[in-house]
Amino acid sequence: MTSDASKTFPIAPNGTVGILGGGQLGRMLALAAARLGLRVHIYADSPDGPAEQCAAAVTVGDYRDAATLEAFAKAVDVVTYEFENVPAETVEILEKAGVSAAPGARPLAVAQDRLAEKDFMRSLGAGVAPYAAVDDVDNLAAAASKIGLPAILKTRRFGYDGKGQVRLDETADASAFEAALQSIAGAPAILEGFVPFACEISVVGARGRDGASVLFDPARNDHAGGILRRSRVPADAPTASLDAAREITLKALDALDYVGVLAVEFFVLPDGAVLVNEFAPRVHNSGHWTQDACVCDQFEQHIRAVCGWPLGDGARHSDADMANLIGDDVHSWRALAATPDTAVHLYGKSEARDGRKMGHATRIFAIEEGADTTFNTRPA
Ligand code: AMP
Repeated sequence: MTSDASKTFPIAPNGTVGILGGGQLGRMLALAAARLGLRVHIYADSPDGPAEQCAAAVTVGDYRDAATLEAFAKAVDVVTYEFENVPAETVEILEKAGVSAAPGARPLAVAQDRLAEKDFMRSLGAGVAPYAAVDDVDNLAAAASKIGLPAILKTRRFGYDGKGQVRLDETADASAFEAALQSIAGAPAILEGFVPFACEISVVGARGRDGASVLFDPARNDHAGGILRRSRVPADAPTASLDAAREITLKALDALDYVGVLAVEFFVLPDGAVLVNEFAPRVHNSGHWTQDACVCDQFEQHIRAVCGWPLGDGARHSDADMANLIGDDVHSWRALAATPDTAVHLYGKSEARDGRKMGHATRIFAIEEGADTTFNTRPA
């Protein structure tokens, strides 16, 4: 398969989707692509990742190695990515080599910088926690007096699953500020007001190459130690909050001229108002429930969007309760496999380290009669 700048969409079955990243999200994208008769070529910086086990072809290379990336671009029909810390340079090299990369450079650039992300969400009219840029101990003190404490110091870049974050409580003083900055190695950061949320929800939605959008039902999410543990649908949150979250997600999809699946995470305040926490320009853990409760799940939806196919039916046919299997949780796979109405998804990782996402299990339930199964689809 060769690529050129005049590549036309849709990419037909037997075409090749290039995926940057070799983790579990790439694995589940590869499985969804295979179901549509497409091949997947994984580009990752280490061998034997979860995605590589399920791919037709694999390139192991550095994300800044132009020659290897150019060869990869020639071997695929379209490129996407499964993690948001892909260097902007990687996408530039691939696009120069004549292959389309979706969702593209702009969503990546915005999502990679917490400051740009918050500014962007505010420009859409979305609420966000109070925030201020922090570069040194003096402006950390100034930010703390502006925003108030408690607050969370977060690195602007390369944070995920609660990594690169330090909480500052009400009593934090100059020495606590110093220690907090030290623990993030003085990296550029933002200080974010602590949000006393009632619950957290997320909306996972897709936008196709023609501008049509499909949103999955919002999920209610439980985190512990900064890591998602559980997502449930329908989300037990006020209808007005869910609608506001959907509207913001649609606005973000359009404003970014987005192609693919996007996930937006929200805090729901006790009065029902929603604040955007962050967004991910990729398939998302809080959308894993769609694999077992929708005809077209988030992974297939992403592949469809990127390949220029019509988006699929994202309505939920069941209620769902998805639990992550983190670290040693995975050892319960036998019992889970024997549990009725439960789908077990394991990522093929050999070592169950603490905090490592090893798999997930989704239990589905019949939808209650008269329940809201609002399905959001918006034509091009
Ligand atoms: P993040 O990596 O920024 O999404 O943070 C992971 C989790 O930490 C979130 O899902 C929340 O549960 C919690 N968290 C992050 N930021 C805040 C905040 N400003 N106020 C309260 N909790 C937060």
